[in-house]
Amino acid sequence: MNVRIESLGEAPLIAEYDAERQTVRVNARMVERMRAHHGEAAASDLIRTAVAHERFHAEHPGCTEAEAHAFAFAQTQCDPHALELMLRS
Ligand SMILES: [Zn+2]
Repeated sequence: MNVRIESLGEAPLIAEYDAERQTVRVNARMVERMRAHHGEAAASDLIRTAVAHERFHAEHPGCTEAEAHAFAFAQTQCDPHALELMLRS
C-alpha cells in the first residue's frame, strides 16, 4: 500500500483510498493547515492516523466510520476526533 500527500481538490476530506492504485491519498491542504497551525508533530499525527483509518477501510469493506476510527486510535494513540477539531481551529 502506497501513501501520497496530494491535492484532493476542494474536497473537505482528510484522506481517501484509491483502490486501483492501492494508494492512500492524504489531502495536502489539510496537512499544510495542520502544520501551519499546530506544527510538524501534529501534521505527522494527522497523516499516520488518516493512513491507518483508510487502511482499515480498504481491508474491511463495509466497515463503519467508528470501527475505522477505533482502529486508527489503537494504531497511533491519536484521537481522530481531536485531530478533526484541531483542523478546524
Ligand atoms: Zn472513514
